Amino acid sequence: MIITQEQIAHFKTLKTPFYFYDIQLLEKTLSFAQSEAKKYGYILHYAMKANVNDKVLASVQKHGFGADCVSGNEVQKAIDAGFPADEVVFAGVGKSDDEILTALSHDIFCFNCESVQEIEVINELAAQEGKTAKIAVRINPDVSANTHHHISTGLKENKFGVNMSEMDSVLEVIAASANIKLVGIHFHIGSQITDLSSYKNLCVRVNQIQEWFATRHVSLEFLNVGGGLGIDYYNPETNDIADFKEYFAIFNEFLKLQPGQKLHFELGRSMVAQCSSLITRVLYVKEGATVNFLILDAGMTELIRPMLYQAYHKINNLTATANEIETYDVVGPICESTDTFAKALELPKSKRKDIIEIKSAGAYGEVMASNYNLKTLHPAVYSDEVGVAV
Ligand SMILES: *Cc1c(COP(=O)(O)O)cnc(C)c1O
Repeated sequence: MIITQEQIAHFKTLKTPFYFYDIQLLEKTLSFAQSEAKKYGYILHYAMKANVNDKVLASVQKHGFGADCVSGNEVQKAIDAGFPADEVVFAGVGKSDDEILTALSHDIFCFNCESVQEIEVINELAAQEGKTAKIAVRINPDVSANTHHHISTGLKENKFGVNMSEMDSVLEVIAASANIKLVGIHFHIGSQITDLSSYKNLCVRVNQIQEWFATRHVSLEFLNVGGGLGIDYYNPETNDIADFKEYFAIFNEFLKLQPGQKLHFELGRSMVAQCSSLITRVLYVKEGATVNFLILDAGMTELIRPMLYQAYHKINNLTATANEIETYDVVGPICESTDTFAKALELPKSKRKDIIEIKSAGAYGEVMASNYNLKTLHPAVYSDEVGVAV
């Protein structure tokens, strides 16, 4: 995504900080993801937690994706946004009774279940409501995602999923649960996965697990291999669409489906991350004892990824006029030393009121913004409302 001069002129008239969405890039990304998935008949659910901005959701919905939800409110939001209930899945290690009831009331496609006790509770609530809940068991495959440890979810020490060693007892519980129907198995090994060999390892493991089920004569209508496809935070201008082609091709090559079995995916970040930047202004340039600080009007309250996962986001000064390069620690205004976007970053010499763009912020950005310090995040701005992005 490249911000145009016309857009910069518009930004100058607005209060900051705000998220800017490139709707054309979003649409291009969604179309590409959908067409690559369709090549193999794969079914793609959008992981809502990445971004629930209404305009983004409307685009996603229009492209014919299902929704992957991790809370009752997300399930409700998906239904309200027009996603068909039979394309909504509900995952998460800690589903509350109210959330389960919400999902049951809409007859969603499937609950991705993460423990024996959860299956028992869903069975009980489904019986009470006179329904049968379709479930997939989330299995912890013990496959490394080679990603940041905070966003790795498929290792045996992680809290997610059921280990294969427990699977016999899980099947016994399911067999004894009159209001539960097992329809699939589910995996999700982590996020921001750029080493695609992790997915090959997942396929090999899933093939073994499929054999385990086959020897027990348990048939599975579908497999769900989750999401996690990474994006290029370092070269967002030149590499603005994730490698969906290679990603789906790996599953096609290495995963063995049973006859008639469907393959589902749940992608979040790769569908929305590159289509948005956080736009902020320089409040002050401050000379520190050892470094100079560029103090912005946005901080961890608007974009917490750098503070939470040491995530890198490319930062541009959109209005710098100097040719000189200076080194800054780029920080927010929040009363926490961790409120730092980048350390020792080289930027064109910057001044008060310069407009700064923090790129690749469309996933886990606006949706994680908080009310801490009672900061104001101004309304999002959309490319199709302020001139056309390149
Ligand atoms: C977060 C999550 C996803 C999406 O992950 P991305 O890295 O954003 O693609 C998919 N499935 C489950 C169960 C998740 O928790």
